[in-house]
Amino acid sequence: MRDKIVAGNWKMNKNMEETEALLAEVSAKLPDTDAKVMVSPTFVNLASAVNQLESSSIEVIAQNMHFAESGAYTGEISADMLLNIGINTVILGHSERRAYFGETDEILKKKVKAALAKKMTVMFCFGEELNDRKSGNHFKVVESQLKNALFGLDAKSWSSIILAYEPVWAIGTGETASPEQAQEMHAFIRKTIATAFTKNIADNVSILYGGSVKPSNAEEIFSKPDVDGGLIGGAALVADDFIAIVKAI
Ligand code: PEP
Repeated sequence: MRDKIVAGNWKMNKNMEETEALLAEVSAKLPDTDAKVMVSPTFVNLASAVNQLESSSIEVIAQNMHFAESGAYTGEISADMLLNIGINTVILGHSERRAYFGETDEILKKKVKAALAKKMTVMFCFGEELNDRKSGNHFKVVESQLKNALFGLDAKSWSSIILAYEPVWAIGTGETASPEQAQEMHAFIRKTIATAFTKNIADNVSILYGGSVKPSNAEEIFSKPDVDGGLIGGAALVADDFIAIVKAI
């Protein structure tokens, strides 16, 4: 049985007081759910978020990390630093990291390897750009992103991987992939993993959809058989919206 997951990616939003207030509201309003609920505040607020949610089922996760153990990498954060403050899951490969910070498949492969070596869980993001979809190359692009960063993994590493398919054209744009488009791609991803590894691995990996998920569209997207939840950007910054999305799962 694969996990159902709703994760909020807060990106570079919310200062310390705002983080505390949003976490307090989200945890107070959290419904009873079988789904794993995750939130990802900025680096500077991660440690306090972990403390604040100590007795909550909500997991605090990081938005990024560096692949090196330590050293002269100004501005970067290592896996050990995250583990040290109680963070066990990291988002890697978000399209904004790829687009604005030059993260290539090669860099992401190293980051995934480094996180897994420390027994962290990786939420690996990938997805095509608008021109890829328009030209009909979306399946090829997605397959190559997966292949380049993840297909060198050994079979047992897959229990520490969560996939987040996020078509770039749907992130922060208000434009959502239709539930059918999401299902079509998620089924393709599962089939691709089954071919490269095993059906068992493919059947057990959670595949989240991300891209303008809102309370109004979450239920229909989550109802698709290969969609195991969502990575939520903008709507995760408003407690009632995030909670409504958690309820939709
Ligand atoms: C994201 O950045 O991962 C995301 C899905 O953003 P939004 O929900 O705002 O489109």
